[in-house]
Amino acid sequence: MEQKELDRYKELLLAKREELSTAWKGRDELAPSAGHLQGDPADQASAASEAAIQVRLHQTDSKLLRAIDDALARIARGNYGTCEVCGEPISAARLTAVPWTRLCLNCKAEQG
Ligand SMILES: [Zn+2]
Repeated sequence: MEQKELDRYKELLLAKREELSTAWKGRDELAPSAGHLQGDPADQASAASEAAIQVRLHQTDSKLLRAIDDALARIARGNYGTCEVCGEPISAARLTAVPWTRLCLNCKAEQG
């Protein structure tokens, strides 16, 4: 892959990482603090399930952040854009849509 293309994917990855860490920070500030819950039990229950949703979002985001960091490491090592399963180059369209992917479309489809 050309350096010019690598730079473009790197920018996409960095932008996505920035977006995730900004969103993450915002959610932390908005997260309800369990210590300050007052009011009727229904309010408390909905605040608790809201907190649970945010925890799940955190887990999804942190997985994605790891995938992004892995992709940036592959760019640094010079093996970015190659499918980990079949070793074929991943299409530019797929990398543009999902720049942190490790698999080509065929292998992804086989894995479900
Ligand atoms: Zn493949």
